[in-house]
Amino acid sequence: MTVRTRFAPSPTGRLHLGNVRAAVFNWLFARHHGGAFVLRIEDTDTARNVAGGEEGILEDLSWLGLDWDEGPDVGGPCGPYRQSERGVAYAAAVEALLEAGRAYPCFCSDAELESDTTEGKDGRDVRRYSGRCRHLTAAERAHLEQAGPPPAIRFAVPGTGGDVEIADAVFGSLSVPREELDDFVVRRSDGRVTYNFAVVVDDIGMEITHVIRGVGHLSNIPKQALVFDALGRARPVFAHLPTVLGKDGRKLSKREGASAVAELRDVGYPPDAIVNYLSLLGWSHPEEREVLSREELVAAISLDRVGKSDTQMDPEKLSWMGGQHIATESLGDLARHVRPFVDVERFPGALDRVEAVVDVLRSRLSTYGEINRHLPLIYPARDEAVSSARAEVAADPAAARVLERVGEALAAVEPWEADVLSSVVRDAGARAGARGAGIFHPLRVALIGSPKGPDLGKILAALGREEALGRIRAILGGRVV
Ligand code: GLU
Repeated sequence: MTVRTRFAPSPTGRLHLGNVRAAVFNWLFARHHGGAFVLRIEDTDTARNVAGGEEGILEDLSWLGLDWDEGPDVGGPCGPYRQSERGVAYAAAVEALLEAGRAYPCFCSDAELESDTTEGKDGRDVRRYSGRCRHLTAAERAHLEQAGPPPAIRFAVPGTGGDVEIADAVFGSLSVPREELDDFVVRRSDGRVTYNFAVVVDDIGMEITHVIRGVGHLSNIPKQALVFDALGRARPVFAHLPTVLGKDGRKLSKREGASAVAELRDVGYPPDAIVNYLSLLGWSHPEEREVLSREELVAAISLDRVGKSDTQMDPEKLSWMGGQHIATESLGDLARHVRPFVDVERFPGALDRVEAVVDVLRSRLSTYGEINRHLPLIYPARDEAVSSARAEVAADPAAARVLERVGEALAAVEPWEADVLSSVVRDAGARAGARGAGIFHPLRVALIGSPKGPDLGKILAALGREEALGRIRAILGGRVV
């Protein structure tokens, strides 16, 4: 069996962390099994659709690297992939249910339906359809059909009493008392099909083998399972992902869950870090490893290790994860990712040697966009602290000697690379009779305005020869070449 999973968002806005987690699991699971990941757009609730909603979803998924094998833009053998275009499939399924006696037309008026309302155990109103139209005679049906507006179509829940048995790969077997399931509507009188019906027709048509989604949909399994049964198709594996709570353990607030993928992209999160972070909301690695590349996630994912316990959204952990992924990127990739974020007006030289610049600052970054917060380490503002540190060094003859020797050596060194620069600085400082802090402190002050800071060789590499010599020269009052 080829594994086929799907992500089925409604185009009601951009993807956010709360709803894209299901896409991450479906994608990882399909890739793990060498199967297909299908994208389906559930756009039947036209009042809630937003303009550009579908394009936004496609963009967000692409940016996250969750590529789909079939979908509204690329097509595929089981299309169309937008619910709004699948009317033929729904009509055929309604016909099949009617013919098999597994559905029936319902002519009840709103007032009649209202009269089905009773008070539930908790005092709240419960409306459960009485089954009034299920037992109409053929003659009564024919008469009502002629007389009134088009009927709704209801699913005839089979049997009486007992439980409907359902299985979930995460939450185990569940049984739902049959009387809790009334004969639900599959097609409204205005012709629109309902979610629980359309989803099953689509999952059948798209040959979905595993339905992986948030636990909010767990309560939909009974109805959906009955529709699969009635249409004579095997139920897929259902796997519901546990609840995501907010950081304080309370219900996820809109703000926490609604971190839009697009916003995270705009501040410069690495997409791999987001995929990794979301994969841990409900699943754990067999060796409890947390920082995992995409390939490692694909290799390790399994439904067996998805837990039922609630998980928590933790922005600090997401930011930590960003840093962990940035730490493992090659310098070339990191430089390419950071480049578009650099504020070139504030830091005009930063792009000249962007690889060397990110080499100095990478350990401080949890997003690419944070580069601007740390660039002042290399390009300090001319504030008082910087000037007084410089004045102190300029007034110290030993420090000035070190800077002169180092300046001479730097004028000639080749190649201009961090390791080479470090050793050249050490040797030149030694020739001036200094070592350790006696070299590094004055040189850092000359270069970045502070005796402490990142590795000197890396700072020099990031500044480039001309800029580094310019800064040393400035502190010496022009005495060095
Ligand atoms: N359109 C539904 C949602 O966004 C999909 C539900 C499902 O996966 O079955 O929640």
